[in-house]
Amino acid sequence: MNSKEKEILAEKYKDFRLNYDKRNEGFYTNPSIARIEPFKIADGLYYVGDKKVCIHLIDTGDGLIVIDSGYLGATHLLVDSIWRAGFDPANVRWIIHTHGHSDHFGASEEFRLMYGTKLAISKVDAECIREKPHRAHVVTRLFPFAKIPEFDYEIEDGEIFELGNVKIRCVLTPGHTQGVLSLFFDVTENGKTYLAGLYGGAGTNALTLPYICYNEDPEDCPQQMLDSIKKIWDEPVVVHLGNHPGNNKTLEKREQQIKEGGNPFIAPNSWHEFLSGLKARVQKIIKDNEAIKAEMAEA
Ligand SMILES: [Zn+2]
Repeated sequence: MNSKEKEILAEKYKDFRLNYDKRNEGFYTNPSIARIEPFKIADGLYYVGDKKVCIHLIDTGDGLIVIDSGYLGATHLLVDSIWRAGFDPANVRWIIHTHGHSDHFGASEEFRLMYGTKLAISKVDAECIREKPHRAHVVTRLFPFAKIPEFDYEIEDGEIFELGNVKIRCVLTPGHTQGVLSLFFDVTENGKTYLAGLYGGAGTNALTLPYICYNEDPEDCPQQMLDSIKKIWDEPVVVHLGNHPGNNKTLEKREQQIKEGGNPFIAPNSWHEFLSGLKARVQKIIKDNEAIKAEMAEA
């Protein structure tokens, strides 16, 4: 990328960021507009996130694990949701982060300081944001005191994270960031055991050329995501969890559960439906990136 091209991409990134912040301004100001009641997904597995970002709580029998901790400025929502789910936030022993973006570690530093919660993230993302902190997208304009938390533990590809009676298999699935972790673990419901699966970072905005350029990420991020999809395609996931609610239709499934009963989260097709849609979106981004390159070559 030459300096002229970098300039064009920086302008495009600025527009993207402005639009993103504008869209989310209401939520940044009053996170409670995105609040929902926490609910049980399977035995020992609860949704404690909001309408914007998924947060899951696992009761391991030997303390709690929370997966991601939501947006900056929304710590109160998480604390409230954990209490309402029937647990004490002080018993959260670990927060495991799917990736190093600020909408997934918003409450983490507060939990570390208030409750002594330990924080884990992939080794790759820990290194990525140590090297270049702007990659974490902490919105200092809106949250001047926010910072990247201090992580206590760095997870390797394929590592099993074990606590109490829960074993979480952590698989590196780069693309959205270089260190996205997808998580797999067994859950039970009505005496049956199912594999729960969470793809740890599916936002394709991070694959666009302006974003890649801003982040100083490798240009083949889209191809990395296609390879990641292939890597976890055959996981026999029945309880598909989201990273953001759109991934697994969290909110629609919850609506259905309230209206019709049953458990729509036991959904063997959801994993592949999501991955197929994701693959198509990535392929479109690859075309869009090529168009941007052609446009820049003409400029
Ligand atoms: Zn992200």
